Amino acid sequence: MSLGYTDTPFIHDQVWRVHDAERPQPRIITPGDASTKAAVSPPSDAVVLFDGSNMDEWESIKDSSASPWELTSDKAMRVVPKTGNIRTKRQFGDVQLHVEWAAPTEIKGEGQGRGNSGVFLMGRYEIQVLDSYDNPSYADGLATAVYGQYPPLVNACCKPGEWHIYDIIWTAPRFSCGQLVAPATVTVLHNGVVTHNHRILQGPTEHRDTTRYDPHPETGPIMLQDHGDLVQFRNIWVRDI
Ligand code: MG
Repeated sequence: MSLGYTDTPFIHDQVWRVHDAERPQPRIITPGDASTKAAVSPPSDAVVLFDGSNMDEWESIKDSSASPWELTSDKAMRVVPKTGNIRTKRQFGDVQLHVEWAAPTEIKGEGQGRGNSGVFLMGRYEIQVLDSYDNPSYADGLATAVYGQYPPLVNACCKPGEWHIYDIIWTAPRFSCGQLVAPATVTVLHNGVVTHNHRILQGPTEHRDTTRYDPHPETGPIMLQDHGDLVQFRNIWVRDI
C-alpha cells in the first residue's frame, strides 16, 4: 500500500504535496514515562472539559444534542462510530489545551484507518490523533500532525492501549475587516516531547487539498473527531491564555 498521494496539490511554500507519499517520515523516538503515568490533574484555573464523570461540556455537531459517545467504566469517553464528531459547548480563542487519548488495544486497520481521531481547535484546525505506533502513513497525517500541512518533528507515539498526552498551545488567527491579519500558530507537546514549535498554519486543515483562511469568529469550539475508530479520551482541560 502506498503511504500517501502523488496527485494532490503542493502545499503553499513547501516542496511537498498534501499527504505526499515521498515526504520523509519523522524520526521515531520512545517518549519518557509520561504516557504510562496516571491522568495529569488540571491546574486550579483550568476549565475542565472532561474528568470522567459526565460529558456535559460536549454536544453532537449534528444537532447540538447531548454527546452520543460512550462513557467507560475507567473514566474515559470513547468514540461511538458513525455518531459523528463532538464539540465543546463553550467557545475558545487562544488556549493551552490538555488532552489524553488511547488507541484500541486490538489493532485493526492500517495507515489512516488505525486509531484515527483528531483534536480540532476552533472546530477547523486539526491536530491529528492516529495510532502511529508501528503504523506507517503519510507524514503530514501522523499523530500530532497539523493535518495535511506539517508532520510532527518526531514520532513520539506510545503503544496501543497506552495513554497519549497532548499539550497544545494555540494562538487563534486574527482577522480585521474580512482580511487575515495574523495566521494561527500552534506549539504541541506529545507525551512531553515537542512535535511543533510555534508552527504557522496555512489555513483550516483539509483532506487532500490546500487551504486558505476564511474569516471566522474570534472563538470557536474544541472538536473531537469520529473517524470510525474506538479511540478513547480522558482528562481534557483548557486554559484561556
Ligand atoms: Mg483525524
